[in-house]
Amino acid sequence: MIQDPNLLAETLDAEFAVLSPLERLQTLRDKVKGRIVFTTSLGLEDQMLTHLIFANNIKIDVVTLDTGRLFPETYDVWRETEEKYGKRIHAKYPQAEALENLIEEQGIDGFYYAKEFRLNCCGVRKIEPLGRALEGASAWVTGLRGDQSQNRLGMAFASYETQKKLIKVNPLLDLARERIAHFNDDHGVPINALHAKGFLSIGCAPCTRALQPGEPERAGRWWWEDDTKRECGLHVPDRTTVAEGAGI
Ligand code: SF4
Repeated sequence: MIQDPNLLAETLDAEFAVLSPLERLQTLRDKVKGRIVFTTSLGLEDQMLTHLIFANNIKIDVVTLDTGRLFPETYDVWRETEEKYGKRIHAKYPQAEALENLIEEQGIDGFYYAKEFRLNCCGVRKIEPLGRALEGASAWVTGLRGDQSQNRLGMAFASYETQKKLIKVNPLLDLARERIAHFNDDHGVPINALHAKGFLSIGCAPCTRALQPGEPERAGRWWWEDDTKRECGLHVPDRTTVAEGAGI
């Protein structure tokens, strides 16, 4: 077994090119020691990965970040998924005191007033809980696709994240959205009802809107911000970079 995480990530990245998403997850589990965490937002891509993990009993923890501002439809698909597979999707929540301070300082919907306030909110509701979700993990699985945004085009199947000290793995990187939708249809995978209403990328309710025909996939997220690289900070190197606008 390869011990050096950089080398292991490079090996996985090369091997994944010719494997199916299921084989990628199985190979990851075979080759990486310790805890592997898959963080799901319960969107279309993540539901495919959850299906592959649960239906094939792959030992990967499925974890979601409940920001407290999710759509009711997102909680529905969360419950339906647990009922279908008989398995728990583990949840991480914002720290109560940090959340109380945030609301006190910038108001309940402060994210609409300034980008810095939005980053503060994502920091408290997503970034800090993500850190706890990944604590002690050797690898982190995500449902990112390369064609979702410019920012995601340059990503690899597997790479070593020096700051988080783990291997980040994107098993669906080369899949088109349509293929994932067909897979979910064919396998009866529960999906968020909002997808059928024009919501492609679904996050927190106040920060997500349906797309108009022809709009890019992530245009419905933080649409009031004039920025072409919008991310919440989960998939950028660190919050400093986010604050400087380099990663969003
Ligand atoms: S997406 Fe919006 S509501 Fe959710 S954490 Fe970020 S700023 Fe807050």
